[in-house]
Amino acid sequence: MRIGIVGAGATGTSVLDTLARLLPDGAAVTVFEGDRYFGPGRAYRPGSGAALVNLTAPKMSLRPDQPGHFQDWLPADHPEFVSRELYGRYLTELFTDAADRLGATLIGEYVVAIARVDGSYVVRTGQAAFTFDAVFLCVGAATPSDVYELAGTPGFVADPYPLDTMPSLSPEASVTVLGTGLSAVDAVLELIQRGHRGRLRMVSRSGYLPGVRDTRTKPVLRSTGAEVTKELSLLDLYRMVSGEFRAQKIPMTELWQEFQSGEDPAARLRRQYGQVLAGAPALPVFLAVAGHLLEHQAWRLFGDETRAVFLRDWHGLVATLCAPMPARTARRLVGLLDDGLLRVSAGLTGIHAHHNGYTVSTGQGDFETSYVVNTIRPNPVPLPGRAAELIGSLLAGELADTHPLGGLRLDAETATALDGTGMPSPGLYVLGELAIGELYVETTVLTAITHRVGQAVHHLLGRSSKGAA
Ligand SMILES: Cc1cc2nc3c(=O)[nH]c(=O)nc-3n(C[C@H](O)[C@H](O)[C@H](O)COP(=O)(O)OP(=O)(O)OC[C@H]3O[C@@H](n4cnc5c(N)ncnc54)[C@H](O)[C@@H]3O)c2cc1C
Repeated sequence: MRIGIVGAGATGTSVLDTLARLLPDGAAVTVFEGDRYFGPGRAYRPGSGAALVNLTAPKMSLRPDQPGHFQDWLPADHPEFVSRELYGRYLTELFTDAADRLGATLIGEYVVAIARVDGSYVVRTGQAAFTFDAVFLCVGAATPSDVYELAGTPGFVADPYPLDTMPSLSPEASVTVLGTGLSAVDAVLELIQRGHRGRLRMVSRSGYLPGVRDTRTKPVLRSTGAEVTKELSLLDLYRMVSGEFRAQKIPMTELWQEFQSGEDPAARLRRQYGQVLAGAPALPVFLAVAGHLLEHQAWRLFGDETRAVFLRDWHGLVATLCAPMPARTARRLVGLLDDGLLRVSAGLTGIHAHHNGYTVSTGQGDFETSYVVNTIRPNPVPLPGRAAELIGSLLAGELADTHPLGGLRLDAETATALDGTGMPSPGLYVLGELAIGELYVETTVLTAITHRVGQAVHHLLGRSSKGAA
């Protein structure tokens, strides 16, 4: 069997590692990676030492069937949340081992087109064409969107990732990070690591920073145990969460305060960090219910309309609670706020470039800044720019179709791409954030991605063994 993997970040590495374990000598595998690193992808490249992974080691194994795999790889005295850079080394090592075992061919070029010819897939880079029986699309996430049309202005950093490639900014200058999510936090930590001393601001429309992860409080769910099988409404969701709060005897006001609008972003961070220090159960219980729903693939139990309303009205806030930052990162941000080195603002309405910087407008007034670092990702997320040509060829060849909520359409059980009529493109697999419209948050949690990778690889091997029989 001839197999192509497009993209060698964590998802592509997981595909390669799974193939190496299941098919030690039965496949000819080729991996395409347009960047110079095979293994770490955008988030975990060398040089991203200040940023931490968001989950503890037991939740970062690349092998779903071996939850201790990453933990065992780490030195015994590792911190609870390791650096992204260290995680990248784990990925690189796994990638290299798997590539060696398979004798995989590595092509350091972007794939620009895929076509189906006589039942096989022809994959083209700028230089050459390759033919495969199956192709795994692992091209990763979209880069930030330039919603304020600042591209080409002198102080604009269009994307802070990979962090090691972020341009150096004058350390005394004022810098505004657009966005207040996990990527914005990474950008701030990276600047501080580089010795930035000037005024730093994070600003977004909502101003919500990621919540704070509490790894010490481990709630046992009391009312959310049953498997979720029927179609869910947003009211059902609220009832599940509020039922669990009642069962845990947590005042409902602690749930409602997470959803009240208008709380000052810095005050929200200090409140949540204080709750974690005090071992308050509200945030861990919320996260545990979300984890339960994720495990039962609740997104698939939402109807189309519910999905659209959820994404429009609730996603931003819920995502801050479901993808919280490590408490160590929160402590650093609180320290920067206390020292007056950082401000966080809500109510972003616009940005205008002028001859010596930018004017940022918010509901509370305007301010000036010399540099702007962009981390904004609109919803639905756009298709990843680096794969635009490739995806364009899939759409033109009717091998795939766009999903109205982002990414490409796919059969959720097997990860097989679906065309515009809903017919599968056999052997063409859509993995990672390209599956976001169908799988939502599952595409941003590594263990959920690798679980899907396992399903896709087993589906391919099942198909090929049926074909052989
Ligand atoms: C900053 C950040 C931090 C995260 N932290 C965590 C975390 O702590 N825990 C967690 O569980 N999840 C985390 N996630 C979510 C998710 O687990 C990661 O994004 C994961 O690394 C995704 O890997 P990927 O391989 O799908 O994408 P990427 O890492 O983006 O890799 C895709 C690769 O494909 C290549 N590529 C793209 N187009 C082409 C093409 N046409 N031809 C050839 N190559 C191509 C790119 O160069 C890239 O190397 C994080 C995400 C981000 C962005």
